[in-house]
Amino acid sequence: MTAELKLRLDHTIRNVPDFPKPGIMFKDITPIFLDAKLCDEIAENIINNFLHNHGKIDAVCAIESRGFFIGILIANKLNVPLFPVRKKGKLPAKTKEFTYDLEYGTATLEIHTDVVKPGWNVMIHDDILATGGTAMAAAELVKSEGGNVAGFTFIATLDFLNGRNKIAPYSNNIVTAIEFE
Ligand code: AMP
Repeated sequence: MTAELKLRLDHTIRNVPDFPKPGIMFKDITPIFLDAKLCDEIAENIINNFLHNHGKIDAVCAIESRGFFIGILIANKLNVPLFPVRKKGKLPAKTKEFTYDLEYGTATLEIHTDVVKPGWNVMIHDDILATGGTAMAAAELVKSEGGNVAGFTFIATLDFLNGRNKIAPYSNNIVTAIEFE
């Protein structure tokens, strides 16, 4: 990533304290989408860094819901399919689910069972990597459907939450536009 892009993202991503609950510093990425050129640069930078590490991908798996925004830009630029993983109950056709631990309680993600072709190299994309549970669940779903996890891409990683450790066993190709230490 260029230092210039990181600086612009640092200025654009808004910190919202105590959202959605006390003690959480929420990284609000919605101001990014007010700037079409910035969106384009994020997608271009992510693609260039990702493909440098991993030659070719067959599809993008975008994680609900903030993973959809840049995910579809990446997929369109690469001219590959995009499929979503969504919270339980949102996908209309036949699904497979994976339940994972949150700080308090559990969450369940689902994937349509007719989207992954056997052996596909899949890039998993979300807006933010926090503890890594969500991205890990997406990786499990992709694998269980016969795909290979070609790597992960994010707009931002919150590296103090160690999410990289959780997802590295699936792929070491972890690309982010900006990291917060
Ligand atoms: P995790 O499973 O802990 O890696 O959480 C990742 C998911 O939660 C992503 O889809 C993010 O959109 C969201 N998320 C977690 N923590 C934050 C945060 N501090 N600010 C904004 N989004 C967050």
